[in-house]
Amino acid sequence: MKERAPVEAGQVIEYEVTGIAHNGAGVGKWDGFTVFVPFAVPGEKVRARIVQVKKNYALAQLMDILDSHPDRIDPLCPIYMECGGCQIQHVSYQRQLELKRQQVVDSFERIGGLKGVVIHPVLGMDEPWRYRNKVQVPFGWQKGKMVAGFYASGTHEIIDMEQCLIQPSESDKAIRMIKELAHQLGIPPYDEKRHQGVLRHVMVRVGLHTQEMMIVLVTNGEHLPRKKELVQQLRTAFPQVRSIIQNINAKRTNVILGEKNKKLWGDSVIHDRIGDVQFAISPHSFFQVNPVQTEVLYEQVRKYADLTGNETVIDAYCGIGTIALYLAKESRKVYGVEIVPEAIRDAIRNAELNGMKHVHFEVGAAEKVMPRWLKEGIRPDVVVVDPPRKGCQPELLDAVVGMAPERVVYVSCNPATLARDARYLQEKGYIVQEVQPVDMFPQTMHVECVALLTST
Ligand code: SAH
Repeated sequence: MKERAPVEAGQVIEYEVTGIAHNGAGVGKWDGFTVFVPFAVPGEKVRARIVQVKKNYALAQLMDILDSHPDRIDPLCPIYMECGGCQIQHVSYQRQLELKRQQVVDSFERIGGLKGVVIHPVLGMDEPWRYRNKVQVPFGWQKGKMVAGFYASGTHEIIDMEQCLIQPSESDKAIRMIKELAHQLGIPPYDEKRHQGVLRHVMVRVGLHTQEMMIVLVTNGEHLPRKKELVQQLRTAFPQVRSIIQNINAKRTNVILGEKNKKLWGDSVIHDRIGDVQFAISPHSFFQVNPVQTEVLYEQVRKYADLTGNETVIDAYCGIGTIALYLAKESRKVYGVEIVPEAIRDAIRNAELNGMKHVHFEVGAAEKVMPRWLKEGIRPDVVVVDPPRKGCQPELLDAVVGMAPERVVYVSCNPATLARDARYLQEKGYIVQEVQPVDMFPQTMHVECVALLTST
């Protein structure tokens, strides 16, 4: 006989929230049944209304906090509850870091079956706000008004926004100004339903060290009315602008950027550096979005790689080669592999920009290229992997094991797949020495980790 859930939609329950889910919702048991409730803090007793019942869990809406936890704080952002971009602004920063560490510990224990692994406290930011160097904001039209902001959680309804506290105030200012100028100059925003209008998104990028700014206007076709005036006004208001680009995206798609860029003014790239490595960043370049913490993360990678200058290093899933180039100064030879051709083009350019000749980049799936490198006799001392959320393929991990590097430095944005892969490597003769989580995305539940594995 199928067991029935002990709750039903509409029911009001009072229960204790004991943990936090990956999406930031509080979680606890009611009559043995798992109930998720967004905006609750673990340790709180709450009253909540059940909104949806699934086979193994229910979702509830917070009504009252009966017993508030001392780590609850007032969220700074006025649209925090609607926006969905941040999930844990209502939790003190110190506690955010503890919750993230706990998530890593749980993943290692439950998924990896690895107990007693040294997991350090999360390296957080001194100032956990205004950290993003890239901002992408959709434009639209609501009740006769130009709006620009974020999509309400799980929808395509734009929440108009004056500022976003995790992006630089200069970027906020640029978005506000473009909203005003588009209104004044009669540049119509894009209407997603009818596939009409002009201005779809605005992207603003700022280099942390250089303060160079890039503004990208994404339009639904080649036509952009009164672009000269728009450019002129933006240049006057933002002397740090180095590049103003029109990106053309005429497709019915959720992908923000189209393929074609037209330079409206200035350069086609801006520059920034990570440590002392220079990077040129174009509208399409992937570049880590929290530059302050990227340096913290890469320093940790460098420490675990423990290079003396004689080593061969592989950077798998290298993106635009940032880790490869960061380690190149202390290596004899560095190889990077990445699946996106444009990223490898950037990586090669960035190696040239830094005068580094001993780095070799290849386009391809890491799980295909690494086994080939193994066959070709490449024997690295250190392998760094930084895969997407789904983690590494077994073929890739087998190739790593075959190459027998002394050290594997695993950078991960998903503790669950990190733990799974760490277990796999541990079964093949590697030991997880320690894990250092780094907070790349304060106010959200994302946690990045660097793990050091060594051969036995
Ligand atoms: N190390 C880089 C990027 C890490 S993000 C940095 O720190 O900036 C993960 C990267 O893996 C992305 O650039 C993605 O395009 C790439 N990727 C995804 N699947 C891949 C695969 N099968 N083989 C190689 N690269 C892959």
